[in-house]
Amino acid sequence: MKTRKLSVRDLDVDGRRVFVRVDFNVPLKDGGVSDDTRVRASLPTLKLILDRGGRPVIASHLGRPKGRRAPEMSLSPVAAHLASLLGTKVLMAPDCIGDEVDGRARGLQAGESLVLENLRFHPEEEKNDDAFSRKLAALADLYVNDAFGTAHRAHASVVGITRHLPRPAAGLLMDAEIASLSRLRDHPEKPYVAVLGGAKVSDKIDLILHLIDQVDAILIGGAMAYTFMKAGGVPIGASRSEDDRIDQARAILARATGTGVRIQLPLDHVAARSPDPGQVWETTPGPAIEDGRVGLDIGPKTREAYARALAPARTVFWNGPLGLFEVPPYDEGTRAVARAIAAAKAFSVVGGGDSIAAINRLGLAPSFSHLSTGGGASLEFLSGVDLPGIIALADVPDQAKAPRPPKPPAARRRPGARGEHRTR
Ligand code: ADP
Ligand code: MG
Repeated sequence: MKTRKLSVRDLDVDGRRVFVRVDFNVPLKDGGVSDDTRVRASLPTLKLILDRGGRPVIASHLGRPKGRRAPEMSLSPVAAHLASLLGTKVLMAPDCIGDEVDGRARGLQAGESLVLENLRFHPEEEKNDDAFSRKLAALADLYVNDAFGTAHRAHASVVGITRHLPRPAAGLLMDAEIASLSRLRDHPEKPYVAVLGGAKVSDKIDLILHLIDQVDAILIGGAMAYTFMKAGGVPIGASRSEDDRIDQARAILARATGTGVRIQLPLDHVAARSPDPGQVWETTPGPAIEDGRVGLDIGPKTREAYARALAPARTVFWNGPLGLFEVPPYDEGTRAVARAIAAAKAFSVVGGGDSIAAINRLGLAPSFSHLSTGGGASLEFLSGVDLPGIIALADVPDQAKAPRPPKPPAARRRPGARGEHRTR
């Protein structure tokens, strides 16, 4: 029988205290929250619980305090900001466990929420310590996890606590992440095209190896392209590359050739003497980059070729900017690819903090089916890893209409179209 994860929607929260694990790992500046995207993202789940008479006991980590109290990583400013967004009473606890915190949690009234202090002030959190997990569980009657970004970590507030509270459930954000990423992982409609860019190949080796078995084409850009180009013997000038990954890159190219998956590498680049702003830049005539030049973005021929490859796609996954998008004009390649994905009639998912930042800067967020906030967790999920924080949630029979069975795999397109780079 098909199962799904229990959702916060399925819980009877009326009059109950609900431990809600959120991701409030936000940047702070001058005593306030400088980017509140993650706080806003938690609102639907918190409002649902409050509207149904539940009393949220909200927990998160912030930064890397390494098991010690660090006042500059207090969640207090985040609690204040949450209160202003919710328009309801939000109390701040002095710690995340202990008698005083216990008293505050028990004293919560309808319409009130309690924000616990930074979980990572205690080393037991990251150790998934059972005694600590019990103390967290003692603060509430029910458990909801809405922090997809830490679902790949077996920590006390993510895994340990679920052994001590009944029917651990997914929050609305977690639900949406699981639904969208499962669709990509388990039954993607073909053609499925992946676009991979960003800084490093090393972060994404497992993902690439997994995608090779699923996708029709992988379009590569960003700094990681240079490692692949070097592996293929193309000169890359002074561009960044990871020399200790060249063998792996070569193996990936060989495997792609064997399975008939197209791996497209840039046909041209925007290059300059250095990445500093204001440098004179030029477009290379072909894939090679001259000595003394650094590749900083995909060039116009590549943008066109990638847009052509994306046009027929029915499923797209994108992770990693195609160039040094923080420094214009090296954001043009990322913009062109974002537009091409937006124009395709595809189920489109973007993962990765910098990729989402780039899309937001371009104002293109509404054109994508799903923005995955998970970073590392999204990549692990798509690499086929079962995340401990998701495994820990209760399973229920799925009575909803089963998703359409996957179509038989479309014939893999062979390399050969114009403007493509062979994986040889
Ligand atoms: P994400 O956060 O979306 O997973 P990554 O962290 O892997 O993405 O990579 C993003 C970073 O890669 C950005 O800071 C971007 O400037 C950088 N980058 C992409 N292409 C290049 C390039 N050609 N040269 C230098 N940096 C690049
Ligand atoms: Mg990043």
